[in-house]
Amino acid sequence: MQGICLLGATGSIGQSTLEIIAQHPDKFVLISASANESVDKMAEICRRFKPQRAVMGSEKTCNELAQQCQGLATSFEWGEAALESIASDSDVDQVMAAIMGFAGLKPTLAGVRAGKRTLLANKESLVTAGKLFMDEVARHDVTLLPIDSEHNAIYQSLPQTSSGAHKRDVSKIILTASGGPFRKWSLDDMSSVTPEQACKHPNWSMGQKISIDSASLMNKGLELIEACWLFDVTPNEVDVVVHPESIIHSMVSYRDGSVIAQMGNPDMKIPIAYGMSWPDRVETNVAPLNLIDVARLNFESPDLLRFPNLKLAADAWFMGGTAMAVLNAANEIAVEAFLNRLIGFLDIAKLNEHVLTVANIVAVNTLDDVFEADRYSRHLALDMISRGKFS
Ligand code: NAD
Ligand code: MG
Repeated sequence: MQGICLLGATGSIGQSTLEIIAQHPDKFVLISASANESVDKMAEICRRFKPQRAVMGSEKTCNELAQQCQGLATSFEWGEAALESIASDSDVDQVMAAIMGFAGLKPTLAGVRAGKRTLLANKESLVTAGKLFMDEVARHDVTLLPIDSEHNAIYQSLPQTSSGAHKRDVSKIILTASGGPFRKWSLDDMSSVTPEQACKHPNWSMGQKISIDSASLMNKGLELIEACWLFDVTPNEVDVVVHPESIIHSMVSYRDGSVIAQMGNPDMKIPIAYGMSWPDRVETNVAPLNLIDVARLNFESPDLLRFPNLKLAADAWFMGGTAMAVLNAANEIAVEAFLNRLIGFLDIAKLNEHVLTVANIVAVNTLDDVFEADRYSRHLALDMISRGKFS
């Protein structure tokens, strides 16, 4: 029986994780769960799964949750320290890191430092704290399983032999991208898209922030950096290929000419179940892949002129130090501003580029350096938005 701490239980990944737990009550038990604001959804989760501990983002939402869940033995808590505490609890075997954005870094790291198997959906924590994060994973001998579908596919396609073997035999990692809802749109048409249009992903159903990131290709940029940290490569060893059907979730190309791919219907329950049951596999209720129905798989190059975020991410990687935390923070502010209709869709990449260009990039020696860069970049981005100074 595996005890699960689910960080971000009310989100899209959180809900899919709960479905896998519910489908396999003999294998998984929800020990603890967290949510930021959604009291009603969290109350439902508590009543159904009866976790030992439930953590909310504020005292107010925590009290509301406790009110709705009277009679349950669950302990209701709130705040950052409580998040870190549930991730390192002794009854927890696995931490599903599914909080959205940079806010997920500290609790995810707390799980890593406690030696828990870490199921990483929260790509922003690895993007921003990359080397420090991977050093902690190594120091605490943590099993780190990527949940992002592409990285999960790469993980499955790499040789499962002794460490180091893949470095010699792998020639390229091929990261696939759906291209998002605006794959074929002109720059002119993209200049006036609404948050509603940008949130409508053609293949995946996801939270708002990652949906916008997918539409702007920032998601692929973050994933490029994520792949570099996870698999110890540079952007020069990763090819991004647009594959609109999202059936091949990514591939690994070997020096003998072999290419190994992982395929499946686009449903996050597959990589989630893989991470939870690794090294075994369990059933999901995802429909089997019917290749006759799919019939055709298409591939094309990404257009960096219409989607500059992808190149910005590679630039940030090569700049090193705090550049990735700076880019991530600028993007989080830009996405929120776009969702609040303060800036246009194309302004997201413009703002990101502007912040990355003017920011002072320094080396990352401690976690404080990452947090300082995050604060500084948010401040820069907000200032540019308020003065309309980035286009
Ligand atoms: P979501 O917006 O649907 O859910 C986010 C969860 O995080 C919610 O439970 C919310 O309450 C919590 N949360 C948000 N802000 C918080 C804060 N400041 N403090 C504490 N908790 C907070 O997001 P999602 O789509 O489930 O994505 C979660 C993470 O997984 C993201 O990092 C995303 O990039 C990654 N991811 C998601 C998908 C997907 O298909 N949804 C795929 C790959 C990776
Ligand atoms: Mg992905």
